This record gives sequence, structure tokens and C-alpha cells, in this order.
Amino acid sequence: MDQWQPSQQYNSGNSYNNATVSGADLLSLVQRNTRLRRVASTNGGEWVGACPLAGCTSDDDAFHVWPDHPSGHANWWCRACNRGGDTIAYLVAIGELSEREAAERRRQEASRDGRSPYQHAQMRGVRVERPLEPATDSTPPSAEWQARAAAFVDYAESALWQAAGAPGRELLARRGIADETAMAWRLGWNSAELRDDPHRWGLEGDAVWLARGLVVPCLVRGAPWYVKVRRGSSDYVYVKGRGPSGALYGLDLLSGRPAAVICEGELDAVLLWQETGDLVDVVAIGAKASRPALSFLAHLAGASLWLLALDCDAEAEAGRWGTFSDRIRRMRPLVGNDVTDYAQQGGNLRAWVSYYLAIGDGSTTQPGGSDIERQAEALLSEDWRAAPTAWAQAWAALAERAGWPCYGFASWAAWAEDVAGASTTQLGLWRS
Ligand SMILES: [Zn+2]
Repeated sequence: MDQWQPSQQYNSGNSYNNATVSGADLLSLVQRNTRLRRVASTNGGEWVGACPLAGCTSDDDAFHVWPDHPSGHANWWCRACNRGGDTIAYLVAIGELSEREAAERRRQEASRDGRSPYQHAQMRGVRVERPLEPATDSTPPSAEWQARAAAFVDYAESALWQAAGAPGRELLARRGIADETAMAWRLGWNSAELRDDPHRWGLEGDAVWLARGLVVPCLVRGAPWYVKVRRGSSDYVYVKGRGPSGALYGLDLLSGRPAAVICEGELDAVLLWQETGDLVDVVAIGAKASRPALSFLAHLAGASLWLLALDCDAEAEAGRWGTFSDRIRRMRPLVGNDVTDYAQQGGNLRAWVSYYLAIGDGSTTQPGGSDIERQAEALLSEDWRAAPTAWAQAWAALAERAGWPCYGFASWAAWAEDVAGASTTQLGLWRS
């Protein structure tokens, strides 16, 4: 325990920026068409006004712009017409760029460093500092506990990438979690059961038992709020002295996306972030019945849609969330019980999330929508890996026909290209 080494540093950097134009450009572009006023300094500053897009019946403050978003993406969102995206998406929405021109522009962007948007999302690992209000209804662990837990997390993180960490890396590979993703979430491996002096944790009584297994730290501004160890196939234990305590897992990786997905399990959130973190923010509550503190949930306030991806067997808990806020919409894995099950059985997480983003506010359902929804759910239940390109094209065709907005891509055709391009990586990942 005393030979803990300093953790390795992983600086994957913030090189992901989808637009050639800066945030100031987005702001001035929008201001050509509508009057905006600055309403908040959070997320680099937020501006609102009436929606300038054709066909929208917004009131005076439905249209939101974050020109200097800390993620590096200037972005916008209209809560009335449910359209949003980056600067290129805005140019498409007002008719200054065609879909084809926008796709070309995105290709140029992507080719600057030879990576696809999918790979950018995977490699991103950006840690965004968000101002954290003092928690009024949830208090941090003691300073002693946090310091000792931080040392354990550092030790386990370092161990995961050494020879002794092989079982941990195999476990992550089986769950489809890439190395870069594990690094961004600071996962670790404890290769031998340990018993530590409780006084070092600010505790009295029995030794602090540190189980062998995958170490999953819940960090708030880099400091541990709780630490779980995953033993065996599904058993999690909290490191003594600290239960869930109202914390939200994933707070440090929020980047102000217009929608957030709330998962049950931490590793489900990690996988979903890897696959769709360029489209949505992702957090986990850690257990079905957890009720995160309001002071933590407030960090999702910028997201106008909260997709609740609790496990399929959590209907009662999901119902309670439904009455908590009208931003919430339930999102069920179509195969298996949880997000990871679904992905392991061939569910395409990008299509799944895109589908709920498109239908999320319930206002975009087309005439004959129920038939389209049945077809969508049939496609989402298929194992997309059997024929990735054909599957992605079938999805894109359905989405075009339904008229669903495509977040994060210029068009569903561009989306299908990205999915097909990513399939080699993903197939390798899932089949290893
Ligand atoms: Zn609008």
C-alpha cells in the first residue's frame, strides 16, 4: 500500500472541433437573423432569443446559443422546434449550406488529422471544468477519506496498464470499452485484496477492505466522492466509509450537450459515452433506486432532454423519475436488460440514442409515426454487426423518411457513412 506510484498522465487533449468557424462566428451569424441577449455565464456564456429558423413558432427565448462552450464546440439548440447542433448545422438550417456542402466541409475537417468524427469522439477524453455550486443537500467525504481514496484510485489506475492489470483490461474489452475510454474515466485494477489502516481514511474500527477487481471512481472535480470495486461478474462493493451519497457519476466529463442520458450502471455510462459522447452527455446514478442530489442534477440543467436509460427491470424507479421533471423520457434497451447487454447482443448505440434524440420531445412524430416507430424498433433490435453498411443505410433511409433531425451529422447519409466506417473498429472490439 505504501509503494503506490504516481498515476500516469493521459493527456488526450481537446483537439476535437467540428467547425472551421469559431464561436464568435456562430454568435454573429445568428444575430444577423434574430436578436439575442446574454442570460448566463455558465458553459462559457449562454445567449437566448426567438428562433430564426423557418417554420418555428418559438417564443422570445426558445433559441439558445453557447458560442464559447468549454467543450470547444460552439453550439445551439431551439427547444421549440427541437433543432440544434454546431455552426455548420446552423448554416444548413438557415439554408446557407446544402447538405452536400456541409458534408464536404465536415469531411475536410475530419481529414485534417485523418480521423473520423467517431474516432474523435472515442479519442476525445476531454476533461471539462464546470463551475460546481456548493452542494446543499449532499456533502463530500472527509478530507482524509478523499486523500486516501485518491491515492488508491491513482494506484489502481496505474496498475490497470501494467502486467498485473491484464484481467481488468480483458474485462473492459469484453464490455466493449476501449483503452482511451478507460483512461478518460480513470478506471483502475486492484490485483490483490488489501486491508488498509482505517485511520488513514479518517475512520475508526475495522480495517478498510479493498476488494480485488475493477476500480471505478466517482470523481467530482477530480476528487473521489465514492469508489466502487467490481468483483467477479456483477458484484460491486463500495469502499468503506462512503456510499452513493447523492453523487452523479460522470459530472467531470459533462460537456454541455443539448441532451443527457442517465444510466443506471457506471460501466454502462462509460460505454455509452464512448459510443455517443459527441451527441449527448452521459451520467450514471450507480443503482436503480439512487436519487442524486439536486445540486448535482443541476449540472444537467443545460440539457433540454434527459433520456433515462435505467435497466429494463427498473420500471418503478423510472416512473418516479418521470414525475420529477417533464424533460425526462424513458429509453429502454431493445435487447437485454441494460446498455452493455444491448450493445453486446448487437444493438447499435449510436442509432439508439439518435432515435430518442429525434423523437425525444414527442413533437416530431410524423403522420403514420407509429408504423415508422415499429420499423425503427425492429431495426434497433437487429444485430447490426451482421452487415454494418447495409444496416446503417437501412436506418438512414428510415430516418430520412420519418423526417427525424440528425444531431451531430449533416445528414443521415453522412451518419450512415460514419457508422459503416466505424464498424471495423467496433467489430474488432466486440469480437475480441
Ligand atoms: Zn425553433
